Amino acid sequence: MARRRIIPLFVPHAGCPHQCVFCDQRSISGAAEPVTPRQAAAAVEQALRRSGPGAELAFYGGSFTAIDPAAQEALLAAAQPFLADGRLGALRCSTRPDAIDPAVIDRLRRYGVGTVELGCQSMDEAVLRAAGRGHTAADSRRAAAMLHAAGIRVVTQMMTGLPSDSDEGALATARALADLRPEGVRIYPTVVVEHTPLAARWRRGDYQPQSLDGAVTLCAALWEQFRAAEIPVLRVGLNPGPALEAAVLAGPYHPAFGELVLGRMFLRRARPLLEPLRGSGRVTLAVAPRNVSRMTGQHRANLLALQGEFSIKTLKIVPQPLGEWEICLQTQPAAGIVS
Ligand code: SF4
Repeated sequence: MARRRIIPLFVPHAGCPHQCVFCDQRSISGAAEPVTPRQAAAAVEQALRRSGPGAELAFYGGSFTAIDPAAQEALLAAAQPFLADGRLGALRCSTRPDAIDPAVIDRLRRYGVGTVELGCQSMDEAVLRAAGRGHTAADSRRAAAMLHAAGIRVVTQMMTGLPSDSDEGALATARALADLRPEGVRIYPTVVVEHTPLAARWRRGDYQPQSLDGAVTLCAALWEQFRAAEIPVLRVGLNPGPALEAAVLAGPYHPAFGELVLGRMFLRRARPLLEPLRGSGRVTLAVAPRNVSRMTGQHRANLLALQGEFSIKTLKIVPQPLGEWEICLQTQPAAGIVS
């Protein structure tokens, strides 16, 4: 799926029929009130002037297709002049899986919405119930099928660390989501945010969040699983921002969570290459220039871990013109490459 610049506009909690236990969109999105059509048009005009044509407008932070239809249409109509003059490349929205039906699909098509992000969160019924989602895994399957049948791209969102979930459960959710053949996926570890039911449970000692290290390890495994299924991972971890950082009480929040996950993936992928070189004096691994810091890890954590694990005296990481995921071993005799 071609990646465009996204102009995100927020409709915090608009259309939401339930209070999901983990969610406070005002903190997560940093927006206090839903954007109005007039504000939407002004924001798009400003963003396009700043960064040129071709961006995609996204309505995030609520259940867009469950908003009152007239209000939905007013927001979608505000985008039409920019689509018509070719400066806006596309339109997308995020919504709940149970807020997709034939009337919604018809509206999305009439206004040229090309992608819908479905907040599936889990494909385990017990986890969905514990999260207060108010929809089922079957709703996610049905919504993805209806959108695809209408020619609308689907991005599925899933969470890790929800109450009643486990690492095995998250991996099973990822397999079930991969079966829906979405054009992309986003993965969000559960973070305890102030003013949510989960915050109250955490304060009572009824909820234990994932550790940062545990969430990074699991998300690296999920990423590998989606990659094996040829489904692009568009994001891992919440977008950092001052409102969110002020509201986070506990859980695996890190402003560069996605980079930590990529670093963990490179650590996992380097291990089989180094196994035959245990006890070596000097080993050099080459990766693409943009991956040198990922392979090295934050504060050289990967480098030090691999040196210790394989008793290698000097381990060097060097940039080479390699593919996105490749690691090339430059030390003889066991030269190899993984991709
Ligand atoms: S997770 Fe989605 S559906 Fe649930 S309250 Fe938040 S925005 Fe609404």
